[in-house]
Amino acid sequence: MNGSGESAYIGLGSNLHDPRRQVESALQALDRLPGGSLDARSSLYGSSPLGPPGQPDYVNAVARLHTTLAPLDLLDALQSIEAAQGRRRDMHWGPRTLDLDLLLYGGRRIVERRLVVPHPEMHRRAFVLVPLGEIAPDIDIPGHGPLRELLESVDRSTVRLLRDG
Ligand code: ATP
Ligand code: CA
Ligand code: CA
Repeated sequence: MNGSGESAYIGLGSNLHDPRRQVESALQALDRLPGGSLDARSSLYGSSPLGPPGQPDYVNAVARLHTTLAPLDLLDALQSIEAAQGRRRDMHWGPRTLDLDLLLYGGRRIVERRLVVPHPEMHRRAFVLVPLGEIAPDIDIPGHGPLRELLESVDRSTVRLLRDG
């Protein structure tokens, strides 16, 4: 925008190899990215997986970063964190140690080959909207309207707050 940075929201998910630890360690990695810092993070939530049956449940969270990285540079950084935590790109929607999706970047709408923002499925996913609502209850999703209204349209019972520990 004016060189002072943007707020970016990141959706985190893991359902392999100690998912809580994967998500906590990714939050630390996000805080250490160049050109910004972690501003806010949700609690951890549990959710049932999309995609192939028989997968373990997911641990999900949403984080807000303050960043001066451009959107595609931020996507590169997210993919580096995924790779560093052992993500293998195999089965679509299959189990994974870590998934980091760029949900929102300021109020921007971006459509590029490698990057669509807002993330094209976020407005229908309770496991994204519920943790997002914890840290940004008054936000609008560009093209979809107030988060508060979107939260009414999804099945929030598919997502449960995980207790600490
Ligand atoms: P979904 O995107 O439906 O949540 P997924 O997270 O399993 O599915 P991936 O295999 O992690 O999908 O990503 C596939 C590609 O999606 C990435 O290589 C990336 O280029 C692209 N992509 C497009 N928009 C985004 C975004 N907003 N955040 C992250 N990746 C994105
Ligand atoms: Ca995803
Ligand atoms: Ca992804």
